[in-house]
Amino acid sequence: MKVLLDNGHGENTPGKRSPDGRLREWSYTREIADMVIFGLRKKGVDAERIVKEDTDVPLSERCRRANDIYKETGKKAILVSIHCNAAGSGANWMNAKGWSVYVSNNASSNSKKMAECLGQVAECIPVPVRKPMPDQLYWQQNLAICRDTNCPAILSENFFQDNKEDVDYLLSREGKDAVARIHIEGIIKYLGL
Ligand SMILES: [Zn+2]
Repeated sequence: MKVLLDNGHGENTPGKRSPDGRLREWSYTREIADMVIFGLRKKGVDAERIVKEDTDVPLSERCRRANDIYKETGKKAILVSIHCNAAGSGANWMNAKGWSVYVSNNASSNSKKMAECLGQVAECIPVPVRKPMPDQLYWQQNLAICRDTNCPAILSENFFQDNKEDVDYLLSREGKDAVARIHIEGIIKYLGL
């Protein structure tokens, strides 16, 4: 099984940062993706980033890369797209906070199962998990990276880049370790290892 990490956006993406500029989503998600890959490889799980560039890569190209690998591996790949949420434009601090996970509206049962696995690890750590209903750990939305990829695919929104407390947490050692752990342990759980 190959785990594909999609690190959102790129250095040329406008906005997508904390109001004070301390956190930039493209760079933060690349750092987390590398931590997740390191953690998975340590447990013997093959993992790689599908966007090695620092610049943004269009969603259609990201999906094409994932679908090519899914085909090459004989349908033995899964995809996790790593993001940080935002409630506003990035100009002001906002109130929304917490961790959440998404699948597309056309999600397979495996995508939903993987999202549940990450959500369960998050609740176990514990970090505050945003849920659409008390008994549902994942949200469904029209997300190209999940909708147009053929493999099981989820997207994590790792806290809010425009919430002051969330940004302090995201940038702390504890926060980075927790975010990486949600992905590493959630994926391991989904794979049944
Ligand atoms: Zn994003």
